Amino acid sequence: MSSHPEGMPQGQQQLDISKTDTIVCEECGNASFIQAFFLKKVSALVSPTGKEAVIPIQVFSCGNCGTIPQNMVDQIGEQ
Ligand SMILES: [Zn+2]
Repeated sequence: MSSHPEGMPQGQQQLDISKTDTIVCEECGNASFIQAFFLKKVSALVSPTGKEAVIPIQVFSCGNCGTIPQNMVDQIGEQ
């Protein structure tokens, strides 16, 4: 038999926003972003439905110059 210690505070820590990092545009230093989408085209050959499809993937783009942070680009595998 195994038992877990109970009465420990779980999950939910108080988030102190002053200890978070603000992501800024690596091109122009702007700190506000707008929603944008990458559109991934799935060819009929690899699509589970056997038909060509387009999958939108949400990213954020600099509201000033439009640059998308490199780490988001990396996650999606764009070049
Ligand atoms: Zn920018």
